[in-house]
Amino acid sequence: MPTIFSKIIDGDIPADVVWDDAECLAFRDINPAAPTHILVIPKKPLVNLADARDDDAALLGHLLRVAAQVAAQEGLKDYRVVTNNGAGAGQSVFHLHLHVIGGRALGWPPG
Ligand code: AMP
Repeated sequence: MPTIFSKIIDGDIPADVVWDDAECLAFRDINPAAPTHILVIPKKPLVNLADARDDDAALLGHLLRVAAQVAAQEGLKDYRVVTNNGAGAGQSVFHLHLHVIGGRALGWPPG
């Protein structure tokens, strides 16, 4: 079953894209949890972090680098990068994504 994110990658549904390269895409979250809330996703359809294998190590590193570059692009100095792995951890879209959240004070631990 294609997820909403694979439809965004395929251009079948629109997104506010802030980064697009051969390996990944970043776009604004439709229901932002903070003034800046961007999702960084691989174009490869990994379900979540647990679905990644050793072969995906470079891709995972690239996603983190893009998260930092997108945060810098947005003018964020302090921000959070998080991924929800599994429904019990809050995952609702089953295509790996990093949330880049910033623009307000962020409490810890998250709820
Ligand atoms: P998670 O709950 O960790 O799986 O995060 C999924 C995120 O995707 C949520 O923050 C949603 O608001 C966001 N989302 C769902 N559909 C879209 C969409 N079409 N465009 C942008 N963000 C979306």
